[in-house]
Amino acid sequence: MLTVEEALAEVLSQVPVMPSEKVGILQALGRVLAEEVASPRDLPPYDVSQMDGYALRAADVRQASPSSPVKLSIVARSVAGKGADRPIGPGEAARVTTGAPIPAGADAVVMQEETEREGDTLRVKLASGQRDFIRSQGADVHAGDRVLVPGALLSPAHVALLASLGRSQVRVHQRPRVAILSTGDELCDLDELDIGGRLVDSNTWALCALVLAAGGEPVRLGLAKDDPEEIARRLSDASRCDVVLTSAGVSVGDRDYVKEVLGKLGVELRFWRVAMKPGKPLAFGTRGTQLFFALPGNPTSAMVSFEQFVRPALLKMGGRQSLARPLMKATLDGTLSKKKGLVHFVRARTQVVDGALVAKPVGRQDSGLISSMAEADSLIVLPADLERVEPGGEIRVQLLDGGR
Ligand code: AMP
Ligand code: MG
Repeated sequence: MLTVEEALAEVLSQVPVMPSEKVGILQALGRVLAEEVASPRDLPPYDVSQMDGYALRAADVRQASPSSPVKLSIVARSVAGKGADRPIGPGEAARVTTGAPIPAGADAVVMQEETEREGDTLRVKLASGQRDFIRSQGADVHAGDRVLVPGALLSPAHVALLASLGRSQVRVHQRPRVAILSTGDELCDLDELDIGGRLVDSNTWALCALVLAAGGEPVRLGLAKDDPEEIARRLSDASRCDVVLTSAGVSVGDRDYVKEVLGKLGVELRFWRVAMKPGKPLAFGTRGTQLFFALPGNPTSAMVSFEQFVRPALLKMGGRQSLARPLMKATLDGTLSKKKGLVHFVRARTQVVDGALVAKPVGRQDSGLISSMAEADSLIVLPADLERVEPGGEIRVQLLDGGR
């Protein structure tokens, strides 16, 4: 049986990075850039005023003070979007608004609050230095600057930057398409609730949500009975997907057919079972560049296995560099004990207390329980050889999405 680290290394060694595609800049949010972006222009494209005030020649107002204001005549007006129609000479000023082009001849802006105006006469009560309140052409970005490099994870500020450069589209890594199949005679679809005694297939929805959160595109293959032919038939719809996820039927029960079916479909099994709890009966295989994860059926086992192996794989496919959840030192609120042998992932809530993390298990850890996984924002990771942690003991905790 592989350790969690060995299993993850094996998975990642098989993961291809997706090719790129051009998409709109909003679709690119949260995806990884696959091109270098250079600026075609200076930003701002010309010198602009940072304030509402008056553009003037700094030399004219060198002696200005509240007790001896300097008089200038207002000869022009420059507003954002429409510059002045004449240059500024000695003894002259132009009205400017924030973002307005600085008229030729002016080399400083004085804030409106430091002036008094009567008709076209301006009294400046404060000396200003050259370039005061002027944002210079190219101060933000110069033409030809490399503003974004391949591998950047695109944030809202990157979207703003791309828009300011006039880019409506950008090249990013494709999202992996991920087929999801649930198996089990005891299961029914969401819209079949009236069938008494059956369990709703929640794994499909959990896995779709996890795939979306990891930047993939889920493709639902539905539900198959514990029947090798039906499982094989459903899986044949996955030929155009990059990754295939199944859940359940992968343990040692009489009706656990998933591994056998994958073998018949030409999937090369790379490992089965990982020394962890929950999530031990996990199988991983490949067929060409397609990846197959046969996840355990218990809802929390499926989600925890996804977290440890499928999420990093999907992130790598999407071009991401950083694949692991932050693994933080924390103090345990409570007591934990376990047998030696397996790494345990304990559902917990983790909070910052006096500047340090404190993790508290959320209660029953039965891998069939969904509510405790929903309550958890983190997983305490207990090493294989550890048996007991006392209150206040130091532990490691993996922070999940939505963690506080
Ligand atoms: P199995 O791996 O087939 O033995 O399933 C283990 C447990 O997970 C059983 O209690 C199943 O009822 C449950 N289970 C399997 N598949 C799903 C699913 N898609 N949604 C919710 N529970 C499931
Ligand atoms: Mg089953």
